[in-house]
Amino acid sequence: MSTAPNALQLAGIGMTSARARQRMIDRLVSRGISDEAVLMVMAAVPRHIFVDEALSHRAYDDTTLPIGYGQTLSNSYTVARMTSLVKECSALESVLEIGSGSGYQTSVLAHLAKQVWSVERIAELQDRARSRCRLLSLSNVRFRVADGHWGWAEKGPYDAIVCTAAPDAVPSALLDQLSPEGGVLVIPVGDQQQQRLMRYRRYGDDIQSEDVEEAFFVPLVNTQVPL
Ligand code: SAH
Repeated sequence: MSTAPNALQLAGIGMTSARARQRMIDRLVSRGISDEAVLMVMAAVPRHIFVDEALSHRAYDDTTLPIGYGQTLSNSYTVARMTSLVKECSALESVLEIGSGSGYQTSVLAHLAKQVWSVERIAELQDRARSRCRLLSLSNVRFRVADGHWGWAEKGPYDAIVCTAAPDAVPSALLDQLSPEGGVLVIPVGDQQQQRLMRYRRYGDDIQSEDVEEAFFVPLVNTQVPL
């Protein structure tokens, strides 16, 4: 985003209007998203400001969108699904997001959680995500440039961790940073051929896992060292 959108652009008109957003919500409902709070937040957050202005007319389509640096903004169903999967088993006091990307998922979480911590390896993407959150007056998000494989230990444990890029195997640091009282991690696991969306819950030292559905995410890039 080169310049900050004005009030009219922020509210949206035509293909980016509240009506376009409502059509997106109707589609989410028809695909089985039923959490009222998640639907309300997604009806309110202007998704079109999270992509380049040239793509904003496609922001409410049922599709992933490029955000630069070879990364993508997840489609609306995926964001709604991941958010619902953590919300249905947590009060979302403290949430860690791995993969800030455009900041859209971050913003949706910030409306539902008390505090959001978000980690991203590409500083330029995170800078834009931060400005968008500021534009929306979201004051409960903190960002950090780092390799998400290591989580953000100092701020944990977390009630919920949402990982929006796929590792080959679940990073043990993320399980370690879950609250032992039912902390929940939602994460795609696998390679670019086959991925599963998984949900893990931690009770003390016991980890329960649930295979939710097929997933399609960009890889969680392995940088080997904490950034
Ligand atoms: N939640 C984002 C989706 C971004 S796509 C949104 O709503 O737009 C996944 C993001 O994960 C990308 O921005 C990518 O740069 C980031 N990513 C990939 N590997 C990472 C790693 N090892 N550590 C932190 N972020 C990573």
